[in-house]
Amino acid sequence: MNTDLFKVNERGFYGRYGGTYVPEILKPNCDALSDCYRDILESHDFQAHYRGLLRDYVGRPSPLWLSPSLSVRLGCKVYLKREDLNHTGAHKINNALGQILLARAMGKRRIIAETGAGQHGLAAATVCALFDMPCTIYMGSTDIARQQPNVAKMRLLGADVRAVESGNQTLKDAVNEALRDWCSHPSETFYMIGSAVGPHPYPDLVARLQSIISEEIKEQLLEKEGRDFPDTLVACLGGGSNAAGTFFHYLNEPRTALYCAEADGLGTADASAATILRGSDGILHGARTIVMQDDDGQITEPVSISAGLDYPGVGPLHAHLAASGRAMMIGVTDDEALSAAYALNCDEGILPAIESAHALAALNKINLRKDSVVVVTLSGRGDKDIDTYLNHAPSRKD
Ligand SMILES: *Cc1c(COP(=O)(O)O)cnc(C)c1O
Repeated sequence: MNTDLFKVNERGFYGRYGGTYVPEILKPNCDALSDCYRDILESHDFQAHYRGLLRDYVGRPSPLWLSPSLSVRLGCKVYLKREDLNHTGAHKINNALGQILLARAMGKRRIIAETGAGQHGLAAATVCALFDMPCTIYMGSTDIARQQPNVAKMRLLGADVRAVESGNQTLKDAVNEALRDWCSHPSETFYMIGSAVGPHPYPDLVARLQSIISEEIKEQLLEKEGRDFPDTLVACLGGGSNAAGTFFHYLNEPRTALYCAEADGLGTADASAATILRGSDGILHGARTIVMQDDDGQITEPVSISAGLDYPGVGPLHAHLAASGRAMMIGVTDDEALSAAYALNCDEGILPAIESAHALAALNKINLRKDSVVVVTLSGRGDKDIDTYLNHAPSRKD
């Protein structure tokens, strides 16, 4: 019996969320993956290879930086977990490396992936270059048009970037197209999912591969604070991979409060990407979870300044963390995220990804005890968002 409330059960559920809602043809693939992923991940060969790559290729451990400006302003110790310093600029590479090692251990010969903003596509194309595997990346044509630098990088790495013309031509449609490809080539293809979403076992697989984040936080806090847990953890929430990795080793630590920053766009019901705060139960991309939908159950288009957070679903673990009261959700608007990004850049010379800036802005909405220890995951760097930052520069009205 599974006594751990926040671990996935044998049927792939976290509470009422999760499962494997896939077409019949993909069921054997999901089952094959479920049957072997834990054994492979826990094997000596995998761990030695994975950890060696994290250290020498990605540059881990990522630093835990005590932020002077945020600490003074909030009256407590605010640490930033610097995933922005990873190779390729975000936490996504932790997951991509783990999944390509898993694909190889399973004898797969071809990688497919979806991407929205292009960060996961870039990580997937990067590890495929490293391991010399063919890589096909599905990307909505709207996203291709607005994320040109990442598209160019993926193509330079040798990836076949395929434009998806269906639906709104964004991330949701790219996932649908990748699932379609997987249905047509089920035996030789490995589907590398970029977040803690999709059918079982992907949410658990991705959470485990990102759990290196909280593993390091434990060691680093022990060294800096003499205790291995913070009072508060904060991460931004798109599909949920950086949040899952940040929370993983603290899910059953009652002394640590967990907060997710959801992208609330313009702050209104019809212009938001705050899936848990504003959505309702439904099924999307192979899992029962919380989704943004209209009265007829049609998935609606999320709105956020951040391409990495505007996904109309969320990982089933996070839906369960919210439903059970274990984690609190905080809505952060585009403007609030922008202000937090400019502040960190000017005060400390760290330009965060616009996604990560949502987690920074959430700090202003949390009641933080004086002298408490807070860790915020800075999931990525802001180089990809330069145009956004220049176009909204603070000399605006205020
Ligand atoms: C993709 C991305 C996110 C959102 O994805 P999660 O799976 O929720 O972590 C957040 N920050 C950055 C920098 C990203 O690239």
